[in-house]
Amino acid sequence: MDLSSIIEAFETLVPKHLAEKWDNTGLLVEPLQKTAVSTIFFTNDLTEDVLKEALAEKSNLIISYHPPLFTSFKTLRCENWKDRITMTCIANNIAIYSPHTACDAVEGGVNDWLLKCFDLTDVAPIKRSDEANSHIIECIAQGDISFDSLLDRGVEFTVLMKSGYEDKKCFKILTSSTHSATVFQVLLANPAVLTVTSNQCKQLRHSELTGMGRIGKMKKPLKLEKCIQLVKSHLKLKNIRFALGVDCTSDTEITTVAVCAGSGASLLKGVPADLYITGEMSHHDLLDAIHKKTSVIVCEHSNSERGYLVELADQLRPMLKGINFIISKVDKDPIAIV
Ligand SMILES: [Zn+2]
Repeated sequence: MDLSSIIEAFETLVPKHLAEKWDNTGLLVEPLQKTAVSTIFFTNDLTEDVLKEALAEKSNLIISYHPPLFTSFKTLRCENWKDRITMTCIANNIAIYSPHTACDAVEGGVNDWLLKCFDLTDVAPIKRSDEANSHIIECIAQGDISFDSLLDRGVEFTVLMKSGYEDKKCFKILTSSTHSATVFQVLLANPAVLTVTSNQCKQLRHSELTGMGRIGKMKKPLKLEKCIQLVKSHLKLKNIRFALGVDCTSDTEITTVAVCAGSGASLLKGVPADLYITGEMSHHDLLDAIHKKTSVIVCEHSNSERGYLVELADQLRPMLKGINFIISKVDKDPIAIV
C-alpha cells in the first residue's frame, strides 16, 4: 500500500488537526524513493536502539507517538543522536509519522485508554478541543480562490491544506458547526469553485469526548489501595510512584479520577478529583495536589502512554488489511526504579 493511503487512513482515525498548536505532528520524514509500505512499526519513543529493531523488522513506516524531530535545525550531524536517527531513516527509505497530542485529544485515544482499568461514568475531557475545528469542507477550484468574503462575514476558519495539479486546486477548510453552512454557501456561490463537499464533525472524530485529559466518576466508589492495584496491572508495572492525599489512607474511597498521560501537572492543576494519574509531576505540584486531598499516581512519563500503542494498532488494523503491524519490544521508559 502506498504511504499516502496509509496516512489518509491513520488521519481518519486520529485527525492531525486535533494536535496542540505547539506540537510537531504528521509525516516528519518522507522517503525519497516511493516504495510500497508493507510493515508499520509502532513505538512510543524513537531511540537509536528502537531504530535498530525497526530496521531488523524491515519497517517502511515508523509511527512514533512522540515526535523524534521537534526543534528546527540548520545542520544534520553525526554527533547528534536525533540527527543520526533522521539520516538513518532517510538512508533506509523509512518514513516517520508522529501523532502525539492528536492521540491525546481524540476519542478512544491515550487518555481514554489510561482510564480503562476503571468502571466509570460521566467521562469528559479536562480541556475540550476547540469546536472551531469540528467541521471540514473540501472544494476544488479553478486556480487560487480568495477567502475575503468569509473574513468580511466574521467567519472563523482555517485553510488546512491546498494542493493541486495544473490549474485545479483542492482546498480543505476547517471551521465550526455554526460557520460551516456559511462557508459551504460562499464557496458554492464562487464561480471559480467546481465542487464542494462537507464532512460532518463525526467524520472528523470530533465529539463531546475530544480534548485533553479526562475526568470521570466511578460507578461504584473504589478503595484507593484497589485503584493502585488496578493501575499497576493495567500498565503492567511492578512499581509506581505514589503521593497520598492529606488525611487519606489506603482505605479512602475514590469516586472521581482525573488522568493526563505524559506530563500532566499543568492540565491537572486544580482539577477537583480524589485521584490523579499521570506520568510526571513536580515536587511542588504534588504538594499542592495532596493538600487538596487528591492522591497522585505517577507512573513515569512514557509508562502512562506506551500501552496505548497496542490499542492504536488494533484500531488501525481493520483499515489496513494485509499490512504487517509491529510494536517495539525495545522501547521503554528511561527511568527505572532500582
Ligand atoms: Zn508524552
